[in-house]
Amino acid sequence: MKTILKTNITVKEICDGFVYNELEGKGLFGLSGKLTIQPEYQRNYIYASDGGKREVAVIESLLKGYPIGLIYFNKVSENNFEVLDGQQRITSVGRFVNDKFAIKDENGMEQYFSGMAKDKKDKVLEANLLIYECEGTESQIKEWFKTINIAGVPLVPQELLNAIYSGPFVTLGKEEFSNSQNANIQKWSAYIKGSANRQAFFERALDWASKGNIDDYMSSHRNDKNINELKKYFNSVIDWISSLFTDVKGEMCGLEWGRMYEQYHKKAYNPAKVSAEVQKLYGNPYVENRKGIFEFILGDSVDTKLLEVRVFDEVVKKSVYASQTKKAESKGKSNCSHCAIGHDANKSKIWRFDEMDADHVAAWSRGGKTAAKNCEMLCRTHNRAKGNR
Ligand SMILES: [Zn+2]
Repeated sequence: MKTILKTNITVKEICDGFVYNELEGKGLFGLSGKLTIQPEYQRNYIYASDGGKREVAVIESLLKGYPIGLIYFNKVSENNFEVLDGQQRITSVGRFVNDKFAIKDENGMEQYFSGMAKDKKDKVLEANLLIYECEGTESQIKEWFKTINIAGVPLVPQELLNAIYSGPFVTLGKEEFSNSQNANIQKWSAYIKGSANRQAFFERALDWASKGNIDDYMSSHRNDKNINELKKYFNSVIDWISSLFTDVKGEMCGLEWGRMYEQYHKKAYNPAKVSAEVQKLYGNPYVENRKGIFEFILGDSVDTKLLEVRVFDEVVKKSVYASQTKKAESKGKSNCSHCAIGHDANKSKIWRFDEMDADHVAAWSRGGKTAAKNCEMLCRTHNRAKGNR
């Protein structure tokens, strides 16, 4: 791969013919049409998010004469370049010069580029950028793109995969799942954490459809001219969740829905009963982990570990431990009743308090109370083995 360092290209030249696409949230072209700022494999523009702090910082650096870091171009042909790294910074500059956002001046007043004093304007426009022009095969460039460190905001793994497996499949996938204008995003956001811009929905769709093997899946579908299978699977999962759990709860967001779909979607449920069960558990003060409610119900309300049911308090545990241990010592047996009836070395072992956990004698799921009378201390191993109660 060949690289040339250019130090004489100015902001003014880069911004000549700058086009920003509001709908797609992308800076498109610059350098009098010779530069493609956001090639297909690049991520969307994200410096305007979080209140635009990052794009403002880029402009403030230029005004102070600070460098904004190395920028990498891929030389596609004699008069054609693509931005490999730096498209967020270039888009920030292009947007600013085109009055898409303002910065604050010394007096805290909003200032757009067109309203700035000439000397300040010149400071921005005449700033030189440090640009590496790279020339190489597609695979060389991609391999290298995978390893360069991107200043500011690191690529999320899915952005990296999109770059590595760029092609018609990724393009169509991003059109569907990474497009913040897609009307379905609100619905998806109830179950999936993250933003379209940062590929959260595309990643989840791929993760679900590939059962966790996103890399392989993207590689084998790379040249597909459609994403029908991906869409179909993704929508099946979403439809399954939304028809089963009719009340949307905040805790549903970000759960492992793909895995749960695989595990439970062939079972029949009565949505009215499910809804009543959800309400009941939301009203139960002993349930510590509401995120576990949904899988608890899917699994026929058996695995109370999922709910992290509120445990016995320390005072109760300590007094139960003390009386249990005293009794056990007088008999020369283990203070864990399960160990005591075993046949290994632990049958006379006295566990320390911090080696034991409290257990409901009468299972909580069958109405057992979280009170001293219903508390027994068991060694960690036996408490875990009791599980599912
Ligand atoms: Zn034990």
